[in-house]
Amino acid sequence: MSIGAWNDLHGQIGADEPIVDTGAIPAGGVVALADAISDLRATKDTVVLLDAGDLFTGPLASTVAEGAPIIEAYRVIGVDAAAIGNHEFDFGPVGYDVVYAQPDAGDAAGARGPRGALVARMASASFPFLSANIHVADGASPGWPNFAASVHIRRGGFDVGVVGYTTQTTPSTTSRANVVGLDFSTNAGASIAAEIRALRASGASPVVLLAHASLDGALPQSLDEPTNEPRGGELATLIATLGEDRPDVIIAGHRHAWMLGRLDGIPIVSSDQHGVGLARLRFCRDRDRVELQSIERLAVLAASPPRTALGRDVDRVTAPWVSAVAAKGDQLVATLRRDCPMQGVRGTAGAEQVAIAILLHASDASAAAKGVPVVAVMNAGAIRSPLRRGPVRYEDLFSAFPFETTVAVCGTTRAGLARILRNALSGPSAWRKFPFALAGATATIEIGHDGTPSLVGFTIDRNLAPDNDSPLWLAVPDFILDGGDGFLDGVVCTAHARSSTRIRDAWVETIARDPGGCAGPPSNVVVRSP
Ligand SMILES: [Zn+2]
Repeated sequence: MSIGAWNDLHGQIGADEPIVDTGAIPAGGVVALADAISDLRATKDTVVLLDAGDLFTGPLASTVAEGAPIIEAYRVIGVDAAAIGNHEFDFGPVGYDVVYAQPDAGDAAGARGPRGALVARMASASFPFLSANIHVADGASPGWPNFAASVHIRRGGFDVGVVGYTTQTTPSTTSRANVVGLDFSTNAGASIAAEIRALRASGASPVVLLAHASLDGALPQSLDEPTNEPRGGELATLIATLGEDRPDVIIAGHRHAWMLGRLDGIPIVSSDQHGVGLARLRFCRDRDRVELQSIERLAVLAASPPRTALGRDVDRVTAPWVSAVAAKGDQLVATLRRDCPMQGVRGTAGAEQVAIAILLHASDASAAAKGVPVVAVMNAGAIRSPLRRGPVRYEDLFSAFPFETTVAVCGTTRAGLARILRNALSGPSAWRKFPFALAGATATIEIGHDGTPSLVGFTIDRNLAPDNDSPLWLAVPDFILDGGDGFLDGVVCTAHARSSTRIRDAWVETIARDPGGCAGPPSNVVVRSP
């Protein structure tokens, strides 16, 4: 029996943008995955298919339809279960034009509720969405259709138990408004352990932890690496709380990285992102014993047209969504004279241009800001792919910034801004991806000998807000206002105002006005090396 598994598909239908992560070779996407799965079935193994979460939020065709093409593709492929990832909550209520539910609405509001789109996708799915650690406030199950903590998949004489896990960081890694009333943390480990115990008691073997969460630091890349290597990160913490109730294997996601190794002795695998990789976990049965025989990670190369009947079927069923957005996606936004890079160690001009777009929008919209400076802070991690020199279409901007966040403003002080920048620089990956961009202020950052960045100082435009308690207006993606990436941890920022303008659309205007602004190093952040 082979389990085929992947993670972080992020709505990818066709092959991934080759310069993002696959070199010059077209790879990934759900159509190419279907080809690879067809190959797996041709081995005559019994095949079980699992997705470790973040199947939604990505290119225009799947996001405008709020994930519907992926649900249909998975029905055709025969996916058996998916873990719920943080980005499954990105879409809010049903309808691409509706960004957020009314503040007091819950799941009882149905399509207009904060999980309207996700619940609609679950209801139409041919497979269960799994998470043992999502509860409503009183510890009860949210009761969504096709939602379960765990599932038995009985096939070919095997009984595969699968328990789902959703990262406890979900409230700060999707739009917080969309997870109102949900609890990802209370008794999370105990809930996972109880599901594993129940699966074993009812005869499941193997028991798989399908986790939308990962490890920190350098990831193992071989099952032969020492198993007692100490590992940090959310999954390591989780496994340590399980006691005797341990899974046989872990299929992990969320970090968009390749991983193969052992966590406290338990085999763990992760297959990058966007469907560019497929893990094959092969099990054999000898009388009553089921044993893991091998784990391989396969590259999922994309053929055009698809190589197999299954690939062609998935291509055909997703085609209407692709063509529905073709005209919008092909709209020319600007013509770039140079490439517009994504995150680097020295900052990102693309994120800076988004910060400028936020600043322009907030300044236009906020009459209250008169006389008080406005400073825009943008989380650079939201820029997911570079833009290439030449014509930039709406679809390119969509892939670069696939999130439905809007412009938000709140009132803080100069000291508050200093805290925000320090918070951003203390993030776990700040040493390899510069975490923020600025507009309305300039900052100087020093990279220490160990690679960690620190704030030397900053200047607010026109030397406004000279004192620590001088007021200023902070303009940010609402994701940041809601606690995203921890930028506002410990910062008082009051009198919130939220615009309904999506950040992406503000960026479209800015890049059309200044197509040269995206290239070159950012000018509002100066990074000094040791
Ligand atoms: Zn994720």
